[in-house]
Amino acid sequence: MEDAFEKTAPERLRAVQTKLAELARKNNRAPDDIALIAVSKTHGAEAITPVLEAGHRVFGENRVQEAAGKWPALRRAYSDVQLHLIGALQSNKAAEAVGLFDVIHSLDRPKLASALARAMTESGRNPRLFVQVNIGDEPQKAGVPVADVAGFVSNCRTQHGLSIEGLMCLPPVGDAAGPHFALLGKLAASLDLACLSMGMSADYPAAVSLGATHIRLGTAIFGPRG
Ligand SMILES: *Cc1c(COP(=O)(O)O)cnc(C)c1O
Repeated sequence: MEDAFEKTAPERLRAVQTKLAELARKNNRAPDDIALIAVSKTHGAEAITPVLEAGHRVFGENRVQEAAGKWPALRRAYSDVQLHLIGALQSNKAAEAVGLFDVIHSLDRPKLASALARAMTESGRNPRLFVQVNIGDEPQKAGVPVADVAGFVSNCRTQHGLSIEGLMCLPPVGDAAGPHFALLGKLAASLDLACLSMGMSADYPAAVSLGATHIRLGTAIFGPRG
């Protein structure tokens, strides 16, 4: 990515799409089974619009407030956008998140499950849900501890009537990501969950080889964040 400053976002998007198709082929995976989420956090509408114009429709944001500031207008212009929340969600913002996002990757505690269930009932909107796993069991890090994932997923289903589609993780900084991705894949398989949200700009090839269905790329598409 040494020439990241010279390339435009649509050019980087095309390069990523080409590489992703190659990775899919190498790993005997259908390219359509791997959703490319363009993470547009910190970038304004002027940076996002060229990527929309290039035909991309799947985007990720990590803050509800920031997304609320820029996506309603972009959605009016590009109605088939699919917006993913990939960052921490406070229970008191659950209703706003349910209104804004099509997919939420950061469900990680009972209070949030309960707030999302209520917001979904009240609004009639049903964003798809991923449970975030604290895959390295790091203190202070968001996500359900590995040992509690099965119980939490079951609780989401039975107590809150939520349908959980998959698991999401952010491996510990500095660790090789591969073993963490492999563990997330094993957990998902044991719980009969079809989707795996894992892999960022630096490690998505490993994630694809270990079964990622959703990769979240910011820098690789938009360049360095300011
Ligand atoms: C910012 C972010 C990404 C994208 O990171 P890049 O390294 O820029 O690709 C992916 N996932 C989460 C949860 C993020 O916060």
